[in-house]
Amino acid sequence: MERLSLLPKSEMHLHLEGAIPWELIRENSDSDLPPTPPWHGKSPFDSFTSFSKVMRQCFAPCLTCPESYARAAAAVFENLKKQNVRYVEISFGLGFPEIQGFPSHEAALAIRSVAPEDMEVRIFTGISRERDGEQMRTWIQSIFDAEVLDGIDLHGDETAAPAKQFERVYQEANERGLFCKAHAGELSGPESVREVIAFLKVQRIEHGVRAIEDSDLLHEILSREITLDICPTSNVQLGIVPKIEEHPLPILLEKGVRVTVNTDDPTVFGRSLTEELAYVMETFHFSWETMLQLQENALHAAPLQAERREQLLEDLRNHSLSTR
Ligand SMILES: [Zn+2]
Repeated sequence: MERLSLLPKSEMHLHLEGAIPWELIRENSDSDLPPTPPWHGKSPFDSFTSFSKVMRQCFAPCLTCPESYARAAAAVFENLKKQNVRYVEISFGLGFPEIQGFPSHEAALAIRSVAPEDMEVRIFTGISRERDGEQMRTWIQSIFDAEVLDGIDLHGDETAAPAKQFERVYQEANERGLFCKAHAGELSGPESVREVIAFLKVQRIEHGVRAIEDSDLLHEILSREITLDICPTSNVQLGIVPKIEEHPLPILLEKGVRVTVNTDDPTVFGRSLTEELAYVMETFHFSWETMLQLQENALHAAPLQAERREQLLEDLRNHSLSTR
């Protein structure tokens, strides 16, 4: 575990709302919460709805104003720094700030204001499939015009709305030079992965694990060099795979798909990035080379300037040489 803890890492798939440290949640909550999240160690969530409920209990008391976004993000970054995370993509749900009475771009600025200088931080907003409509379009336009984002993501229940509904938004994001990725292929099958590739033109898919059910689709993912940002514990906790041993991660790697390993919502699912990596390494008997490969994959898939990418890859190689 110590070796993995020291490894320079990237976190490609992280929701601020699911990463707020439990201590901060306890401080902000009106109720008397136990020292550890009460659902940890219990059976997986029985539905996406029950997961969302727990998630909301975690973030709602902590994200009430721009300052509280900054406080929560600072605590998340501190946790990442302790794990030697050098690159992170952090996303927050679009519209929750508006419900609290302030524009989402202020949340983005608050997160940016506490980003550590020695960490590459990319800020994404998640457009929820569960919240289409006029109001959502206003929020999207407003945050686009504020020019505070690095990218966008498609969040929420994958079964709630087809990706095609967001085609125009993604088109505009692309034109504005924002990095685009989308959740698919976790709660919904291979068809949802096809849709985000066809309509949203993404090169990065959050999860995408159910592409394993369709060999033609896998072929397309390989030929288009699409990256899957996988979160194994999340997939087990949401019942996508019955147990970790049956997770398609090793098969995807073997087939040459560019995959990365991430936490999704470390507080909700109970594993830090280091712990998640240790978990897959132990379960699948991955070699150290495979663990390095996963980190290299992340740096290749990240929106980084060529020189910075090379520098981070170099750091990774130097680190692996020094720990041999
Ligand atoms: Zn996610």
